[in-house]
Amino acid sequence: MNKIFQVKDLVFYEEDFVDDIKDYEDILEIIQELSPDLDYETIEVAGSNGCCDKTKKNHLVEVIGYIDENDEFITKEERDAMGIMAMNKKFDLFVITVHKCTACSKWVISILE
Ligand SMILES: [Zn+2]
Repeated sequence: MNKIFQVKDLVFYEEDFVDDIKDYEDILEIIQELSPDLDYETIEVAGSNGCCDKTKKNHLVEVIGYIDENDEFITKEERDAMGIMAMNKKFDLFVITVHKCTACSKWVISILE
């Protein structure tokens, strides 16, 4: 199993990723860099998880940040730390969410721009 990243005790393996991992290399780099500071929560969805019908519960990891004018991803904390310097720059909201099924461990990434 090829470990891609880990959030607390939760390990994300390449083999469990639902989509083509090559399409998400940029996103995964961001997650890998931030993963030591990330946390997850366990949520229950109304429908099914879409991977198996065993549970409606999945683990959710959320990374809230922005894409700046240089096309670089920065976290909300990094932007807040800029103080008034941030006021003259342009930022587009960029939220990365990772869902991992509690039953079969399959995981997906979605982006909110
Ligand atoms: Zn599942």
